[in-house]
Order: sequence, then structure tokens, then C-alpha cells
Amino acid sequence: MYDGMLVENNLFDVQVHEGIVASNDRRSTHNNRQMPIHNKMQHPEYQTFDKLNPFRIHWNIKARVCRIWHQFQDQRSSHQKTIMKVLLIDEKSDQMLLTLEDNEIKSFGKNLREGTIFYIKQVKVVDASKTYRIVPGDFQLCLRQDSRVEEIIEDCNNIPSDRFHFKNFDQLPQLVNKIEQLIDVIGIVVNVSGVSTIRKRDNTMTQKLDVTIIDARAKSILMTLWEEILSFYKEQLSCPATIGKDLIATSVLVREFNGNLYLSSSYSTKLILDSEIDEAKHLRTWYADNKELRSTTPITDSNHKRATIAEWKSLRPDSATSNVVVGIKATISRSQLDQKIWYLACIKCGKKTLKNEENNYCPGCNLSSTETYPRYIMRLTLTDHTDTANVVLFDNEVAQLLQTSKDELSSLIADENEADKVAEKIRSILWKSFIFYLKMNGNGNNNPNQACPIKRISEINYAAESKRLLSLISNR
Ligand SMILES: [Zn+2]
Repeated sequence: MYDGMLVENNLFDVQVHEGIVASNDRRSTHNNRQMPIHNKMQHPEYQTFDKLNPFRIHWNIKARVCRIWHQFQDQRSSHQKTIMKVLLIDEKSDQMLLTLEDNEIKSFGKNLREGTIFYIKQVKVVDASKTYRIVPGDFQLCLRQDSRVEEIIEDCNNIPSDRFHFKNFDQLPQLVNKIEQLIDVIGIVVNVSGVSTIRKRDNTMTQKLDVTIIDARAKSILMTLWEEILSFYKEQLSCPATIGKDLIATSVLVREFNGNLYLSSSYSTKLILDSEIDEAKHLRTWYADNKELRSTTPITDSNHKRATIAEWKSLRPDSATSNVVVGIKATISRSQLDQKIWYLACIKCGKKTLKNEENNYCPGCNLSSTETYPRYIMRLTLTDHTDTANVVLFDNEVAQLLQTSKDELSSLIADENEADKVAEKIRSILWKSFIFYLKMNGNGNNNPNQACPIKRISEINYAAESKRLLSLISNR
């Protein structure tokens, strides 16, 4: 029993598996036995990344450029400041980020190309940023006025060309909204959506594309690629031959929407198809043997934050957590008794319409007559051992709770002879227990009389509940 729990607990340790890309130096393939350009004696002194710290004024390093990307920093002015980020790797496969700004981009930036190796002399070491880190490590690099960058022409096969810090798909639920460290993932592409245009919070429009990838346990996750990197990859991804290929995505963030996890690209995200690293080869072999794969399981947040009703009411979420969903295990202690569980919504804006003689008036659009569709709504009171909460359910969740579909519901409601059936369905949910998922900043937190919308309902899986409780007890 004890052993079993230990194994269970190990699942909660976030482990990284590393993918190191061997150097693919073309010069080395020519079996070039000529003397290297630099004589050994002339090699300048340099330090490997593990020796660097901010307590010395400057350092000399020798490193290969793995990845380069540009980023815009809003200067609250009319022109945006461009920042160039360079990820470097050294002979011990350690990585460090170098940031170039303004004039540095003009003077040094054009010489730095992915794959090339440099001595960088008089480089400065500073603390790494606390958020959106690309690679582990406490420090990063920047240039000084007297810094010099010298390209190394000779072979340096001991310096790999890149290194990835992969997370397994089953580790992703623990990494939701962890903006401190971006992660790398690898999977097989099983679906690519078309490019769609959506409205951002600041009301500007942006483009995105969704890619679904699976791991070698047929777990799937959606990855959203945002506009800033889309132009580099749009054509390649939209090609039908991409389906079934292995894909490495670097520097992505795990996000959650209504309990479903997805990956979100960043400025620094790079995509690599058909990689030569071992992880990619293993995945390809696995996929070739499992091409007939019937179904894949999306990664959901099974380790969802749980709360009692009292805890949920006392939550004071900040801006980073206000959209996080918590699960509450509770019993339906009161259901609305009337059968008015639907209203006619405006087809344009989704808001409730008002009957105005023969027409449906929409106050939202201020249209005297609008087309409508039925929306379902139910008000419930939930109870657990700590408190009660008023909640409201819509459409899919109403249908799920009444064990029916929206279509069946609309035909039942349209037929007056079926009124008893609807009433019976509504009565039957009383005293049933479920896990209800609500946002942390549910309206109920501020105003106890206002009902909080339910995002999702799940049946209680008693075996999983017992395991969860055991792990809570053993972690005390
Ligand atoms: Zn409307």
C-alpha cells in the first residue's frame, strides 16, 4: 500500500527529459584534416556557462547560437522598441539567453546567425528575468559598450546545436499558467485547423491557428499558434503532409479554458518538424506501429484545484488567477421548480429578447424585431458541508444535468403534452452530487445573491476521489 502511494506521489514531481541536438556542422562532414584557423595557443581564455555569475564585471564566453527571435516592447510611445533575443549553448550543453537592444542589434545582430559559433568577449552577466524564462538557470547575458563578438570558423562539434527541455503531457496539468518558465513539447501532429481571426481583449483582431499533437500514449493536446509566429509556419503547417509528422514546439505556455488544457505559443516559440533527435525517432517508430489509432484522449486538468464552497467564497483571486476554474464537489439542494428553463435569445448578440406584440425585441442590439433561438438556463443552490452557493447553468450543462440533449429538450418544451416529463426531469436532479467547475472570481464572491455561472459539470468518479484523498493525506 505504502509503495503504491509512493509511486502515485512520484507522478506529481515535475521531471524534465532533455533532448540534445548533436552539432550538424557541415564543415566536419568533409573530413577536413587541415590545420584549424586558430592555433591552440592563440585560443582566448573563456568560461563555460556554469561558471558565470553577476559578481564579475565581464566574462569571455564561447558558444553556438541555437535560436534567434525578435520581440517588441511597448514603450507607451508611437514607435515600438525591438529587442533581439539570442539563445546560446556551450560545450557543456548549458544554455543562456543574450538580449540585444537598439544599437547592439545594428552593430552585432547581423553577424549572429543560428548555428554559428562565437567568442563573445567582455559580456555582462545579470539576473535572469523572473517570468517567461526560456531555459532553466538564474542568469542571462547582455552586452557592454566594450563587448566584442568574434565568429569562430573552425570545427566545434563538441558544441551541440540545440537542447530542449521537454515536459511529458501528463505533467501539463501542474503547469497551467506557470509563467515563470516556458516549456518545450514534442508530439505527432494529428490535426491542423485553418487560420482564424479572433478579437482580443483590447478589441484588436488577431490571427491564430490550432495544431493538435499526441504523445506516445495517445494523449492529445491542442496548441494555439498566435499571429506573431504564424507567418513563419503557416504554409508548412497547412500542407497535408504535415499530418503524422513529429513536431517540436519550444517555449510554449500551458493555458486552460473551461477545464481543457491547451498550449499557447510565445514570441520565442520555434517549431521543428521531422527532427533527428532520439525522442523524435522514438515517436515516429511508435506512430508507424499505431497508425490505426482509433481514439486519442485529450489532456484535461484532473488535478484541478478543488475547493469547498466556503473556501471558494473566500478566494480573492488576482488578475493572473481570476480565470482559473476550481472544482467544487457539492449536492443540489434546491432547484427552480417552475419549468421556465429557457428563453428566446437574439441570434445576433445572444442576449435575452422581449416579446413586443408579434415581434421579438432585442434590447442589446436595439432591434424592434430579431430572429431568435432557445437558450436554456437553470438556477440551482449547491450545498456542501461548509456552505451554500447560488449558481446558474446554461445550454450544454442544463442538457447534461437533465440527461438529455438540447434538441430533445426543445422538442419536449415545444409540446405541451410533455410538460410533465420536463417537470419530472427537473425534480430528479434534486439531492444529486456532482463536481461543479466555477471560475475563481465567480460573481458569488462579491455578491452572495448573484448566481455564479457553472463552466462545466462532471460526474463524481469515486475511485479517483479516493485516490485524490489518499494523496492529500500522505502529502500532509
Ligand atoms: Zn441582439
